Amino acid sequence: MQIELITIGDELLLGFTIDTNAAHIARQLAPLGVEIVRRATVGDDSSVIAAAVSEALARTGAVITTGGLGPTSDDVTRPAIAAVFGRELRLDDEILARITALFESRGYKGPIPPSNIVQAMVPEGAVVLVNRHGTAPGIWLEDDQRRWVAMLPGVPREMRGMLAEELVPRVAALVEGYPVVVRSRTLRSTGIAESAIADKLTTPAEAALARLSVAYLPGADGVDVRLTVRGLASSAADELLAGGAAAVRERLGSGIYGEEEDDLAAVVLELCRSRKWRISVAESCTGGLLGARLTAIPGSSDVVLGGVIAYADDIKASLLGVPPDLLREHGAVSEAVAAAMAAGARDRTGAEVALAITGIAGPGGGSEAKPVGTVWLAMSAGGKTSSLKRIFVGDRGEIRHRAVQFALDMLRRELAEP
Ligand code: ATP
Ligand code: MG
Repeated sequence: MQIELITIGDELLLGFTIDTNAAHIARQLAPLGVEIVRRATVGDDSSVIAAAVSEALARTGAVITTGGLGPTSDDVTRPAIAAVFGRELRLDDEILARITALFESRGYKGPIPPSNIVQAMVPEGAVVLVNRHGTAPGIWLEDDQRRWVAMLPGVPREMRGMLAEELVPRVAALVEGYPVVVRSRTLRSTGIAESAIADKLTTPAEAALARLSVAYLPGADGVDVRLTVRGLASSAADELLAGGAAAVRERLGSGIYGEEEDDLAAVVLELCRSRKWRISVAESCTGGLLGARLTAIPGSSDVVLGGVIAYADDIKASLLGVPPDLLREHGAVSEAVAAAMAAGARDRTGAEVALAITGIAGPGGGSEAKPVGTVWLAMSAGGKTSSLKRIFVGDRGEIRHRAVQFALDMLRRELAEP
């Protein structure tokens, strides 16, 4: 099944708002076997919205829009699309009651503002998509040729709720009627270069991958390998993807840390939990990012003890016990200091494992011996401390992100050993 997306809003065209809605919708619909074949963004202008929707309907007959359903005068999506379908707007008592109740529950007294009453106006013959997260209801409009437009609100939180609760089930029911699907599966790797991955998967040729398309998607987390199947029935597609995923795991071995949206930090926490290991961190150039990645995962408190942002040399010495001699002799970005930071963090917190990061994130501060991107990473566990040097590419943000990902991966690989 093919669907087109139209995101609506002047702020999107101006670049003030990044269009996260389109990406989110595509990601949520892909597992159903839906193909988003075109995305467009238009401003808050009735005639432009109407033209974009008419063209999309003519091509695929299936369109999702976001934005412009609000109560203000710049919100023109509803009347513009109603006109495309030749429908009048009518006051929907149920929506009005819902909006009234929402206002009352928020402690609002007095009559509902006229602009919010406008939100209860829906095109004749429309199906209302309930908004449990805000005032603007979504709308599903269909014509006698079964061509449809689903209008969702622009506010990302409201849009996501309505998509999951109202739209995904409807689209899933429609896809049921389709004989073939497009389906993908993503395996996440880190620590292996894109070209090395491609070589491992293609030499010798892997039969299980022959009927799949393979995409290599490098990013700061590592390289994602996405397998896609087109034009098969749902069960056959899943079977082919399962075979392909097993082959990729076999070929890449410990390079794969997860699938789909898996976060390496969550994988590491789970491995620590099963071994009853607790983590502490000592961070210089990443300034707390490693701690933030770990503690962003709900339930991390049974594994993460804490750590030190030891940016200045004095703090490395006083809070982590790094000998000042080492700092003088080798510099803060060195094997010896990284190791001493990790050992110090472990000693002083009583954690089973400590990770340390010290490096040059740039853009300044590099030298010939230690260019920007040079990072020493250390892990101290079970009485032994190991350090590794990496030279990461990218700007300051990317170097810091890659350093954190690499530190997490050092621990994952250590824990994955039988
Ligand atoms: P509201 O009831 O808030 O007016 P609405 O359906 O009219 O909802 P918009 O007015 O178009 O939605 O957008 C509301 C806010 O949602 C915008 O300020 C913008 O920050 C955000 N937004 C809109 N469209 C998108 C999008 N495609 N991606 C991310 N954010 C968006
Ligand atoms: Mg609005």
